[in-house]
Amino acid sequence: MTAHFLRPATRAAALSALNAFLPHAGRAYAAERNYDLGPQDRHNISCLSPYIRLRLLTEEEVIRAVLARHCFVDAQKFVQEVFWRTYWKGWLEMRPSIWRDWQAELALLDTNAPNVRATTEGRTGIGCFDIWARELVDTGYLHNHARMWFASIWIFTLGLPWQLGAAFFLRHLLDGDPASNTLSWRWVAGLQTLGKTYLATPENITTFTKGRFHPGPLAHRPGPQPEPAPPPGSLPVADASPAGPTLLLLTQEDLHAETLPLGKAEIVGIAALEPQNETVSTIVAGFRAAALEDGLRRAAAHFGAPILTGDALALAHQLGVSQIVTAYAPIGPIADQLTALAEAGSAEGVTLLRVRRDWDTAAWPHATKGFFPFREKIPTLLPR
Ligand SMILES: Cc1cc2nc3c(=O)[nH]c(=O)nc-3n(C[C@H](O)[C@H](O)[C@H](O)COP(=O)(O)OP(=O)(O)OC[C@H]3O[C@@H](n4cnc5c(N)ncnc54)[C@H](O)[C@@H]3O)c2cc1C
Repeated sequence: MTAHFLRPATRAAALSALNAFLPHAGRAYAAERNYDLGPQDRHNISCLSPYIRLRLLTEEEVIRAVLARHCFVDAQKFVQEVFWRTYWKGWLEMRPSIWRDWQAELALLDTNAPNVRATTEGRTGIGCFDIWARELVDTGYLHNHARMWFASIWIFTLGLPWQLGAAFFLRHLLDGDPASNTLSWRWVAGLQTLGKTYLATPENITTFTKGRFHPGPLAHRPGPQPEPAPPPGSLPVADASPAGPTLLLLTQEDLHAETLPLGKAEIVGIAALEPQNETVSTIVAGFRAAALEDGLRRAAAHFGAPILTGDALALAHQLGVSQIVTAYAPIGPIADQLTALAEAGSAEGVTLLRVRRDWDTAAWPHATKGFFPFREKIPTLLPR
């Protein structure tokens, strides 16, 4: 494992990583971010994604800190990158069928086929690709450019289904995220911007790895047949803020409960939703479990309420409350678990309130088309 991800999955570690990166977030980031210098040298990028993914750091506070240090013109590249994450979230939220289709298509594919195993175990004979496959499994991280090259070689050179590649990433990335991952794979495959594929070339790899790799010619086979994405549907309405005695339920979708819009809730107990049906690697599961514990500890100190263990509905009954509050979870396995919990709760007289951050509510509705029209809105979405 590389030095970076030996950092603990805590908010304290996340804040110290953010502070260490701040001096680089201006023009230096814009100039150098595309270089993958290898796992031992990540000074040109923030490597904050595992923290932002779990909202150990919120997008808002990251951008606020960067803009306190650099003017918008200098920091705009970094700011835009953070907004890519928000954009993908909003885009998928308004087109949940894209996620469901990926799940259904994946279920029909054989993740254990010998050629797939050889690829994920780094035995293809394409040197750089094999190194990235092992780097991903060993460290839980790949540079953005390596992710693009990897996905391109997977789809167009090795001729494997993109759905299997997306599943491999989701299993091993510490920042593995239904929206950013699925839609980035679709983007490389030419499904996101219709017919516009991303094709890795040996020259580009050599240039942007500063000569660490010199791959031979890379064949480019036809990719999947593009189909127009469905038009955006309306965003699900977030629940109103709670009031009165409430059980706070933390999930790995948002681990900064201290800044959730909790209205007039009186938090009388705090519990965690244990993820189910998630097929993530041991490294990812360990990182997320530690982050959840950190989130619980901080929330308990902040709200002055006890940490409780067990099933959320049973805990609500035990506490005598008819209300559970949690952060709104975007499309993905946790959102599915929350839907099941809300249904079970309504049968037992317990309401599950899913509160959404203003950040998401303000930005997501603009993710109706491509990123470029969304980018125009960024100045209106910046923290005041
Ligand atoms: C095929 C593929 C799969 C990907 N899967 C994921 C994923 O599962 N989860 C994930 O968080 N990102 C994913 N990305 C996006 C991107 O590669 C990572 O967010 C980025 O490399 C994280 O490293 P960093 O924190 O050093 O980024 P930095 O360059 O320092 O950027 C700062 C922050 O901006 C956000 N960001 C940057 N680039 C992107 C992007 N292209 N899309 C969305 N957000 C971005 C991240 O939150 C990141 O922490 C994927 C990209 C590709 C090409």
